[in-house]
Amino acid sequence: MMDELKPCPFCGSTDVHITDAWPHYVYCLGCNARVKPINPQFGEDGIKEAVMAWNRRRPVKEDT
Ligand SMILES: [Zn+2]
Repeated sequence: MMDELKPCPFCGSTDVHITDAWPHYVYCLGCNARVKPINPQFGEDGIKEAVMAWNRRRPVKEDT
């Protein structure tokens, strides 16, 4: 089972997707943020890696 993509840490949107083609990375259609693994792997590992990279992102602080 694939890991869940968390909502966008930048804009809070749940409209986040992962690319089907290599290199796999996660992108947000709410604010066009993209999180790419530093060393993208091929296949399933690459997808997991991209999801993990995305989910590791902490929400930005609310202070302005
Ligand atoms: Zn976003």
